[in-house]
Amino acid sequence: MKIIPVVPRGYCQGVVRAIRIARETAEQYKGMPVCMLGMIVHNKYVVRECESLGIRFVEDSHKTRLELLDMIDEGVVIFTAHGVSDAVREKAQKKGLIAIDATCPDVLKTHDLIKEHCRKGDVIYIGKKGHPEADGALGLSDRVWLVTNESDVAALPDTLEHILITNQTTLGILDTEKTLQACLKRWPDALPAPEICAATRIRQTAVMNLKDTDVLIVVGDPHSNNTNQLKQIGLSSGIKRVYMAETCMDLKEEMIKDADTVAVTAGSSTPTILTSQVISFLESYAQTGEFNPPQIPDHVF
Ligand code: SF4
Repeated sequence: MKIIPVVPRGYCQGVVRAIRIARETAEQYKGMPVCMLGMIVHNKYVVRECESLGIRFVEDSHKTRLELLDMIDEGVVIFTAHGVSDAVREKAQKKGLIAIDATCPDVLKTHDLIKEHCRKGDVIYIGKKGHPEADGALGLSDRVWLVTNESDVAALPDTLEHILITNQTTLGILDTEKTLQACLKRWPDALPAPEICAATRIRQTAVMNLKDTDVLIVVGDPHSNNTNQLKQIGLSSGIKRVYMAETCMDLKEEMIKDADTVAVTAGSSTPTILTSQVISFLESYAQTGEFNPPQIPDHVF
């Protein structure tokens, strides 16, 4: 059995930066309440590690970032890599909170583009309903229109003008292109501004370029959008067996037993140590045939 660690995989620069900011903030404001507005990234091991630093996570999937702020009355609030609207920043300031911004620079770039364009026209934003990054973008202006698929495009009003089409940074390349084309079919003069970030794009392209792969293991949290996209891209590329595993404890021998080639990739929020452990374990299984997954480590960074 051949094990192929897909390159690149795992942490992107935006996640590395957010984790560094969280650690530095916990250290700098020791003794004060430090809250994270939402999940720092969609990975429970990263969240647990941050909690061990004294950071409290304020999260409710039914509430927006603006509503979540009502649950924080004092101390420090950290905005996650997914970004927030200006209304969230203003509300935090009015509440007297110390705001620390861990928004990824790639997300900020998309926000700047949207804000600039909304002065003169409408923005169609391709994104996932309820995802914090999409919520942040929608909160920038009432001229931002969220679409997730081709049928959402058909449902948009006829009144849109001077249209810019952009998107959430962590979407799948193939699905986004389909929705973009549906927009352009309806509004041929609209201006496309593709904003899938480089980290997402090159990780998905690396999976699309895999050849003769029997099994693809995607290491990451099932709630992570970019991790799910890697799974979808693997299936769309013709790999018959694609599995998600948060850690090597989720692997089962029947997933890989009769495979000649097993590739491993990881979402950009997956701790490197967990992915490395999966790769080492599979390499050991390929050599010895013994299926004994190791215990996961106590700390992931
Ligand atoms: S996936 Fe892209 S946009 Fe999201 S944090 Fe990473 S680099 Fe930034």
